[in-house]
Amino acid sequence: MICEMCGKDVPTTRPMMVEGTKLNLCPACAKFGDEYKSLAARSDGAADEGMPYSKTVIQERLEKRERRMQTRDIYLSTGSTALVADYGKRIQQARVKRGLSPEDFAKSISEKKGTLVKVEAQSLVPDDRLIAKLEKTLDIKLREMIQDGAVMGGQRSEGMTLGNFIKVEKKK
Ligand SMILES: [Zn+2]
Repeated sequence: MICEMCGKDVPTTRPMMVEGTKLNLCPACAKFGDEYKSLAARSDGAADEGMPYSKTVIQERLEKRERRMQTRDIYLSTGSTALVADYGKRIQQARVKRGLSPEDFAKSISEKKGTLVKVEAQSLVPDDRLIAKLEKTLDIKLREMIQDGAVMGGQRSEGMTLGNFIKVEKKK
């Protein structure tokens, strides 16, 4: 789980009230917030008395959080890359063109043959590390740019992906 204040990945977060906003916080940040559920009970007007942490500390953290979220938005809106719909075929064709068996090729890139076969059959989606390795070794492109999610909604790639999945399922 991601702490919404410091952005750390922690095993557990707690919902806390910070400056009137409900945030899921890690144990380290939880001390800056008020107990979420007990807030309603605090109607005695003693809210600001004895606040253990100054507002500036909280403010600083919230501003950092703001910046982090903006960066993420910019990254998303300028487009990102996605695996091409026929990545398995592209890998297989490039490998065959080089006259390599699945076994030899897998060995040459220090991967298991089973992994490579599954990726070529598109029953396994390669991770970024493997994609980069395959692109470099075979001199092919396995990723395409997505602009504002345009490709995701595109009939062509969606239809192909679905078709390929059905094919894989029938083989078993
Ligand atoms: Zn935190």
